[in-house]
Amino acid sequence: MTAAEESGGADGRRGALARSLDEVRARIDAAARAAGRDPGEVTLLAVTKTWPAADVAHLVDLGLSEFGENKEQEGAAKAAELAALRPAAAVRWRVVGRLQRNKARNLARWAAGVDSVDSARLADALDHAVGNAIDAGERRDPLSVLVQVSLDDAVGRGGASIADVPELADRVAQSEHLSLDGVMAVAPQHADAAAAFATFAELAARVRAAHPGATTLSAGMSGDLEAAIEHGSTCVRVGTALLGAR
Ligand SMILES: *Cc1c(COP(=O)(O)O)cnc(C)c1O
Repeated sequence: MTAAEESGGADGRRGALARSLDEVRARIDAAARAAGRDPGEVTLLAVTKTWPAADVAHLVDLGLSEFGENKEQEGAAKAAELAALRPAAAVRWRVVGRLQRNKARNLARWAAGVDSVDSARLADALDHAVGNAIDAGERRDPLSVLVQVSLDDAVGRGGASIADVPELADRVAQSEHLSLDGVMAVAPQHADAAAAFATFAELAARVRAAHPGATTLSAGMSGDLEAAIEHGSTCVRVGTALLGAR
């Protein structure tokens, strides 16, 4: 990298990220307006898995503050590196991928939230781990939790079945150190995304009726954020369209 690139010249990585961020924001804006919604209702969660902390630092400088990782270990390392690169930045990290219960204790040290809670056992492990982290002075806030829904019951991609979501949401809401903030879904690979997002929006409304604070509807990625926003998404999780192909 030349010095000009390092400092964020138009041809450097910083410039490329600035351009793709502009494009993603324009897509969010257009989709929200087309749906008669306020673009300000849609949060952009930058999914930085496989990309270095230096890229996260650029995105912080460009105004982003919410980042997603799909692996606990990679996220922990990156969060520590970013804290060294940008000590004053107030960033929030979320885990968006499948999570093993034995990662809960370490996750509680660095993550603000988990978007992929799909079982009571995982919720209980996180609650316990966050309680321990608070007791140890390693964090102050409860963990923000989204219940992940499987819209096609595909094995291996995670998510609770639709029928199990209300009970799991109740359990998270009753957990002392977890905050039930909403629901998350990944559109099925071989089905109509719009139909899946419509089903998801209905389920989200049911959860919200029981838990008024559960307002986050996390849906939409690089390839389908328009359809998700049309169906009420309040958080799009974007990796490729921002940072490039992994
Ligand atoms: C990787 C990932 C994303 C981002 O996907 P892109 O298609 O790269 O935008 C979103 N959500 C989850 C759960 C992911 O694992």
